[in-house]
Amino acid sequence: MPHAEHMPALVWISGSGPNTQYPVPAGHCDCDCNKACPPYRQIESFQYPTTWDEIPTVRIDWCHSVAIIPHLDRVVALTPQVMEQFSPARLGSAIEKVLASPLPSSCTPDGRALDVWLHLTDDCNLRCTYCYVPKRPQAMSQEVAQRAVEATVRSALQHEFDTLHLKYAGGEPLLNIATLLSAHDYAAGQASQYGLRLKPVVLTNGTLLSDQCIAELEQRDISISISLDGLGAVQDGQRKCVDGSDSFALVEKSLERLEHLGVQPHISITVTAYSVKFLPALFDYLLRRNLSFSLNFYREHGRSGEQSHLSITERAIPHILAALEVVEQHLSPQSLIGVLADRADFRFTHLFACSAGHSYLVIDPNGQVFKCQMDMSHSVSSIDAHDPLKAVRNSLDGIQNLPAGKRTECAGCRWRFWCGGGCPYLTNHIKGQFGTSSPHCDIYQAVFPAVLRLEGLRLLKYCDPVGLS
Ligand code: SF4
Ligand code: SF4
Repeated sequence: MPHAEHMPALVWISGSGPNTQYPVPAGHCDCDCNKACPPYRQIESFQYPTTWDEIPTVRIDWCHSVAIIPHLDRVVALTPQVMEQFSPARLGSAIEKVLASPLPSSCTPDGRALDVWLHLTDDCNLRCTYCYVPKRPQAMSQEVAQRAVEATVRSALQHEFDTLHLKYAGGEPLLNIATLLSAHDYAAGQASQYGLRLKPVVLTNGTLLSDQCIAELEQRDISISISLDGLGAVQDGQRKCVDGSDSFALVEKSLERLEHLGVQPHISITVTAYSVKFLPALFDYLLRRNLSFSLNFYREHGRSGEQSHLSITERAIPHILAALEVVEQHLSPQSLIGVLADRADFRFTHLFACSAGHSYLVIDPNGQVFKCQMDMSHSVSSIDAHDPLKAVRNSLDGIQNLPAGKRTECAGCRWRFWCGGGCPYLTNHIKGQFGTSSPHCDIYQAVFPAVLRLEGLRLLKYCDPVGLS
């Protein structure tokens, strides 16, 4: 190996090459929650890091490291010579000059997006072991759905959002497909009338996707996110049908049907202490089929029937790292830095782990508005309010979604602008307060470097290097 002094000052920059965006639909996970995030450069107290110790930096191999340049919202692979010659701030300026594209004006890939969870029904044809939805005979009517869309548009316009992430959810939303389709058609008309972009997704268990249903969704450009936790008995162990029969074969049939029709779904994986051991096999299955996916760590919710032994602990770390090794074996041109570590997302800097309490409306079948779909015990507003989002933002009830910088233990953490401190609901549920780090912090700190290293490997393999002087 050559000595670092003789190596050229090269960087490989994320987002600078073709085909690097991972096709994650908005609202891709069952709790998604866009990340709420004023642009990093506007954070008043922010000082550009001056030393490499202040930012996440991971060794890839003997002669390359990978780092995140926060004020550029870029990940770079770099040689030791770059680290010797440039401070992170100086490197940021040098890269800024090299890049033809302007810096992002907004920190999210989707601009200013308002996330909306339309809870179309409590009903479901599965009985997953970890489900937090009470199975009541409640379904949203088309009339309530229409008013919900109107309320959403009112809030979006008053708060100057330019995009609506509409998540058709439940329960199993395809059990109420008539309302789903009519709500969507109405929302599309409203969005076009008021100049809003619409990014819709249905969050489904994947067992009811008939040809006709797929055609209806496809015709409307509604993304499909399917929950799948494992292969065969692993999925069947925690996601059984209501009659006790297995669900994996049904989901697999839907995946085949979608492939046959040329429709690309997204896979949302809930990771439990039971399923995590089998994560490498699931990753292998999904990567071989070129299916996009994201990981969500199971969140305890305290409802009756709760199985707290499903919560993952640090014992999950070797299994998650083994799954990341599978990603390394199948290294694709597309970046996975937004989807491999629960709520953390390394695609862009953000202050919060999710948009709850900031830019998120959860609307139940009766038109009541909540901050989060896991916290639907008491509403904070309704679709009859002039501006339901204002009520959500002003409410001191329920979830208080603090920025990572205002949580003890997170405030000095070098990962905070990508982690956001984790799900506030879970933190309060487990630790009894919102102002502290996630109960999954140990797992995060073990997994984040591996995720960043994978991105470095991807950059080295698929991007052209840029020389700096
Ligand atoms: S939860 Fe842990 S990893 Fe995340 S910001 Fe807080 S201290 Fe850092
Ligand atoms: S508080 Fe937790 S469960 Fe609720 S939207 Fe945020 S990340 Fe999801």
